Amino acid sequence: MLDIWQDTLNWQPSTTEQALFQQLYELILAGNQKLNLTRITEAYEFWEKHLWDSVRGFKVLLNKKAEDALASSALKIIDIGTGAGIPGIPAAVTIANSTVDLLDSTQKKITFIDQVLTELKLDNAKTIVGRAEEIGQLRSHRQQYNIALIRAVSSATVCAEYALPLIKKGGLAIIYRGTWRDEENTALANAVPELGGEIECIDQFATPLTHSIRHCLHIRKIASTPAQYPRAVGVPTQRPL
Ligand code: SAM
Repeated sequence: MLDIWQDTLNWQPSTTEQALFQQLYELILAGNQKLNLTRITEAYEFWEKHLWDSVRGFKVLLNKKAEDALASSALKIIDIGTGAGIPGIPAAVTIANSTVDLLDSTQKKITFIDQVLTELKLDNAKTIVGRAEEIGQLRSHRQQYNIALIRAVSSATVCAEYALPLIKKGGLAIIYRGTWRDEENTALANAVPELGGEIECIDQFATPLTHSIRHCLHIRKIASTPAQYPRAVGVPTQRPL
């Protein structure tokens, strides 16, 4: 797959990163026997829909090595609703000088990820069990991250309400979407300024093997998020902004 990585992202995983991806695949397959982690289990499909898709979403962060080394401060990333660790584990594997918090509300998934992190010896990632609505109100997490990743968790507007309170001013929320409709665009454009954000781009692309259409939304945080956001558990999904 090295040629495809190179042709599509102008980037390739190192030998170590490839080995970690392979190990992650095997651990998720094994974990799937007991837990409902993913329906995507065939090797090429896993590569395209989990690994490639993860990296495609945060590719802007891959070539920041020199900059970050100069700044000598780690890029703080949170993956909200990480499930089996996607896209947060690929982020921890590939983004230089990063620390990644993997958040999910399901204890069983977090227990699984803890085992994966131990097996992969990934010491720049850790787990948090909880709801984004609660974590976003804690001083220890609110406005603490440079980057929030969020894939397959809820509508874009709800994802923005989960993500923006956690990001520092100047930071970026990367929301992974499949299809994207004009109505979603309108709802997001209304909600984002209220949360202190600005839509930077809506990036449409096709996956390299099955040519499925995907979208990645980049939302920049430009102002503090008002204290009432995120609202109480369940409210963002029941009454989206
Ligand atoms: N991000 C992974 C992926 O793309 O494969 C998992 C997606 S899975 C469909 C959604 C995950 O989000 C589930 O593991 C669920 O427990 C978690 N989740 C949903 N709402 C959440 C919330 N409010 N706070 C934290 N986790 C949440």
